[in-house]
Amino acid sequence: MSIKDLARRAVRALTPYQSARRIGGKGNVWLNANEAPIAYPFTIDPARLNRYPECQPPQVIAAYAAYAGVQPEQVLASRGADEAIELVIRTFCEAGQDQVLICPPTYGMYAISAETCGVGIVEVPLKPSRQPDWSEIKSRLSDVKVVFLCSPNNPTGDLVGRDGLINLLEAATDRALIVVDEAYIEFCPEASVVDLIARYPNLVVTRTLSKAFALAGIRCGFTLASQEVIGMLAKVIAPYPIPDPVAQIAAEALSPNGLTLMQERVDELNAQKARIKAELQALPCVTEIFEDKGNFVLVRFSDGERVFAAMKQAGIILRDFSSKPGLADAIRITIGYQDEMDAVLNVLRDIR
Ligand SMILES: *Cc1c(COP(=O)(O)O)cnc(C)c1O
Repeated sequence: MSIKDLARRAVRALTPYQSARRIGGKGNVWLNANEAPIAYPFTIDPARLNRYPECQPPQVIAAYAAYAGVQPEQVLASRGADEAIELVIRTFCEAGQDQVLICPPTYGMYAISAETCGVGIVEVPLKPSRQPDWSEIKSRLSDVKVVFLCSPNNPTGDLVGRDGLINLLEAATDRALIVVDEAYIEFCPEASVVDLIARYPNLVVTRTLSKAFALAGIRCGFTLASQEVIGMLAKVIAPYPIPDPVAQIAAEALSPNGLTLMQERVDELNAQKARIKAELQALPCVTEIFEDKGNFVLVRFSDGERVFAAMKQAGIILRDFSSKPGLADAIRITIGYQDEMDAVLNVLRDIR
C-alpha cells in the first residue's frame, strides 16, 4: 500500500482549486486574481508576539461590526472568506450524507470545500438572465443543508435579486442556511443584504479584506450572521485563527482613517471600470460585456483564445473562463489603475 492509498477517497479524487497563484504566469501586469493594484504601508507592534493571540481579536470584531452595521456577537473573523466557507460546511454538513447547493458559473471554492469535507454538491445553474433559478433552488431545499449564492457573483459580476433572496430565506426557514458571499460588496455597498440578518437567522453573509481593502496577503475574512449561527461556527474554528500581526493590520484598515482610504481607492477603481467598459464597447473584438458590480469585468470576445494569447505575449495575466459552461470565449479582467487598463486596451485595439 502506498501513502496515496492511505488518503481519504475524496482527497484522492480531488482536483485542487486552480487559484491564480497556482496557475501562475509570466508578466508584469497582474489582473487575474481580483487583487488590489498596489500595497499600502502598515507598522506592526511586536510587544505581544510571544503570546498566543485572542481567538477573535476584540478590536477587530468591534470595528468590523460597526463598519458592517451588525452587533459584535454577529461577527466571526477567519483566515479569509475561504475559511468561512469551509467552516459553514464543516459546522452544518454531515460528511458522506449532507449536500450543499451551488449556482454555477460561480466561485470555485464552494464546491472544493464541499468535496474536501466529503459533502455532496447539488448544482442549479444560473438562468440565462444570470439570476439564481429561485423555483428550482426551492424545489431542492429538502436535499441540501446550505445554499451558496455570490453577490456580486464571481466571475459574472451580477447581483443576486433581493426579492428572490427574501422569498428563498422564508422558504428555507429552519431547513437550510443561505450563504450570500459579499467578497466584492464594497464596490456596490448599497446592494448588501446584511440588514436581512436581523429578520432571517438562516442568512449568513461572508466578507473579506482581500479585495477592496487591498489586503489579500494577510488572509482575513468575516462571517456575519445571527448570534446562534456565529456561536456554532465559533465551536469549530481553530483556537488561534487570526495571527496578532494580522489583527493589528486589520484593526488599522478598519479604523476611520483606513475606511476613508478604502473608499477613495474603491471610487478610483470604479471610475477606471466605467472608463474601460466604455472603451471595450467600441472594440470590434468584443462581443459581450457582463455585469460589472465587482472590481472586475468578464468580457466575451469573438476569439477568446487569441485575446488571451496576445495578452500573455504582452505580459498581461488575465483569467480565462472559456471552459466554464456558458462562458465560451470569456475572459475576466481585474480592474487596476490607469496604466494597467491602458495596457489592456492597447493590446485589444490591435486585435481585429
Ligand atoms: C476572492 C474571493 C473569496 C476569497 O476571499 P479570501 O478572504 O481571500 O479567502 C471568497 N469569495 C469570492 C466570491 C471571492 O472572489
